Amino acid sequence: MTTPAPIQMNDFKAEPPEIRAAMLAAARRVLESGWYVLGNEVLAFEQQWAATCGVAHGVGVGNGMDAIEIALRAAGIGPGDEVITTAMTAFATVLAILRAGATPVLADIEPDTGLLSRASVQRCLTTQTKAVLLVHLYGQVRDMAAWRALCAEHGIALIEDCAQAHLATWRGQVAGSFGLAGAYSFYPTKNLGAVGDAGMLVCQDAALAEQASRLRNYGQSVRYYHSELGMNSRLDEVHAAMLAARLPWLTGFTERRREVARAYEAGVAHPQVKKLALPEEAAAHVYHLYVITTPDRTALMRHLQQHGIQALIHYPVPVHQQQSCLDIRLDPVGLAACERHAVECLSLPCHPQMTDGDVQRVIDAVNAWRA
Ligand SMILES: *Cc1c(COP(=O)(O)O)cnc(C)c1O
Repeated sequence: MTTPAPIQMNDFKAEPPEIRAAMLAAARRVLESGWYVLGNEVLAFEQQWAATCGVAHGVGVGNGMDAIEIALRAAGIGPGDEVITTAMTAFATVLAILRAGATPVLADIEPDTGLLSRASVQRCLTTQTKAVLLVHLYGQVRDMAAWRALCAEHGIALIEDCAQAHLATWRGQVAGSFGLAGAYSFYPTKNLGAVGDAGMLVCQDAALAEQASRLRNYGQSVRYYHSELGMNSRLDEVHAAMLAARLPWLTGFTERRREVARAYEAGVAHPQVKKLALPEEAAAHVYHLYVITTPDRTALMRHLQQHGIQALIHYPVPVHQQQSCLDIRLDPVGLAACERHAVECLSLPCHPQMTDGDVQRVIDAVNAWRA
């Protein structure tokens, strides 16, 4: 008997040949245009992605982390200002707050979703609080009316980290359109990924978008005139063109992620394996990651590996336990749910190129595990 091919967390090489052809054509178009930075490809993709998100403006930047930093800075949030966010996120979320010169404050999560807890955020509020940076973790958009109400009540900004939530909608509204600004990453493994680093800030407000486009380009207002100190964080033409070429596939790929997740919901049944809560509506989750929890994660990972199935942890070390972040202020009652999730969470493969056979293999392997 031959051993079946391993099932990876992502498999770009298995993408349809048509998508590769479209990307190569886009790259060729840029090469032959002779214009590589901040040109028509970036403009076109900014408009497409902003329209996809249901907002007026998109500002293409170098990566998702910079999109967050620029969103904060453009909103006038910096030194002396506190930004509340989750410790259960990609490190970039918190690093972006620090890079903006602001002070991160870390709140706990809801154990059944992994998402930021409003009760914990309430405990973190001070007179210095200027924003909640809400991470749509794993691709889930949830409780947005409540988040907007909380931020409005306290007169603080809602900024969305949408790096995992491309096309996630809640009551018909797309991630990135709920708050002051949304920050997207197009890192290769994200639901819409470039062949390198790329990101975008989306927002409704024209002045905010203008400020963001100055900040990404050295703080330049008019050519050679620098009204402030910005960054060099521009989306490259070649990435914009290739992302636009991939965009027509995103809806189908997202639907396939949901099918894989539905199969896991129906098929995974093991006394030691817990699933996260279902989304409030099907469209509110785009399954960037499909995450389960189990008290004996190391054993399950080893078991899956023996069956040729890759599984990863998002995230094993919460931000407040990182060596470089030990002095960040936390919810005064601590981050117990976050710490427990970090020990128990495991992401099963969930990507659009998985076959039904792959999905069944993952389900069978999990269910056959002897904990
Ligand atoms: C990937 C990611 C980022 C950072 O995006 P980069 O493009 O890698 O800088 C930020 N936040 C979350 C939640 C992410 O998953």
